[in-house]
Amino acid sequence: MVKVLVDRFKCNLCKLCVDYCPAYVFYIVNNSIVAEEWKCVECYGCIALCQMNAISIIEH
Ligand code: SF4
Ligand code: SF4
Repeated sequence: MVKVLVDRFKCNLCKLCVDYCPAYVFYIVNNSIVAEEWKCVECYGCIALCQMNAISIIEH
């Protein structure tokens, strides 16, 4: 299991992660990104994709 964290102060709501994630982890709710982290398949693609470096994945 991992934690998928989105820094809402860095995120510019570009939606790239929403469109990209193969496991549909990301949603926009009330103008911020919500991560349903239990769905994450740990591909780490979103980390490279996010131009704002807003996404962190923490293994625990
Ligand atoms: S890719 Fe990054 S900046 Fe774009 S919506 Fe996702 S978290 Fe926000
Ligand atoms: S690591 Fe992959 S599966 Fe997990 S949130 Fe990022 S893009 Fe989605």
